[in-house]
Amino acid sequence: MLYDILVVGGGPAGLTAAIYAARAGKTVMLLERESIGGQIVYSPMVDNYPALPHVSGSELAAKMYEQVEALGVEIVSEEAVKAEKQADGTFLVTTDYGAHTARAVILAVGVQHRRLGLPGEDELVGAGVSYCAVCDGAFYAGKDVAVIGGGDTALQDALFLANTCRSVTVVVRRDRFRGEAALAQQLRARDNVSVWFEHRPVGYVTLDGALSGLNVEGPGGQRMLSVEGVFLAVGQEPCSAAFADLAETDAAGYFAAGERCRTAVPGLYVAGDCRTKEIRQLTTAVGDGAVAALAACADLNAY
Ligand code: NAP
Repeated sequence: MLYDILVVGGGPAGLTAAIYAARAGKTVMLLERESIGGQIVYSPMVDNYPALPHVSGSELAAKMYEQVEALGVEIVSEEAVKAEKQADGTFLVTTDYGAHTARAVILAVGVQHRRLGLPGEDELVGAGVSYCAVCDGAFYAGKDVAVIGGGDTALQDALFLANTCRSVTVVVRRDRFRGEAALAQQLRARDNVSVWFEHRPVGYVTLDGALSGLNVEGPGGQRMLSVEGVFLAVGQEPCSAAFADLAETDAAGYFAAGERCRTAVPGLYVAGDCRTKEIRQLTTAVGDGAVAALAACADLNAY
């Protein structure tokens, strides 16, 4: 079947694009390689989404999914590995299971966790190193943990972990947080949280294959933090590599597109965190999804 619009990515941007496209009467397929909701499912508590204060990211994602499904969007669990424009102007999107065709494509592929790249890091994932406080926090109840990073994710993770862990040490490489002041203020009110500014991790310490500590370096030299868990929240990088042949990216790999979410390729749109933009928030991802879908619908209707 030739779909009107194929949305790649089931995070808030892709889900919103699917809602707008389906409501405009288009046939829509949405591809998602992992779980619906994208990065937002890792947010323990979202406090800045209008009209829905204090909602967990996974709850929000579930509501978005229900809405998309009810609109008749075909949601497919496949990973898009390539997208190309064919001679007749339609797109062929190849996945790990097959291929799909559409008249327009919206890439809402989001971002993935950045790694620190310290020796032994990959082997320690699941044995002391984690990228997801919501998923793994319960394993560290009553224990000492560290959170690396000073952005919104680190602040949210630290707040979440402070509810159950004995102590949480936030290691921030600069002399201040990058994340929201309101979250930083909540963190300061927690007795079991300490913040080490101007420190950066330099190595993991292990005992019998499991994490037992983290070496950090700061103005006073190197110190060892005795922790059983390290939660990495050092930012993200775009999941754009599979589409680099089709869509132009900047040096960091973010898709080049303006506020209307149109790329230089007619019929190809980008939405959400994977787009070049200043502010990456749930609200701006949702905004992008609407804008990209409406641009795609307008262009399809013009043919
Ligand atoms: P981020 O804002 O890019 O912050 C990454 C943090 O990690 C920064 O403190 C950065 O330090 C630090 N860092 C980067 N590389 C490091 C390294 N090699 N060693 C030590 N520290 C390192 O990433 P994020 O917190 O994941 O947020 C990503 C986007 O999602 C942001 O736009 C954020 O606002 C948004 N977000 C919003 C919410 C919300 O509810 N409002 C929640 C989560 C995420 P520097 O500051 O020195 O670069």
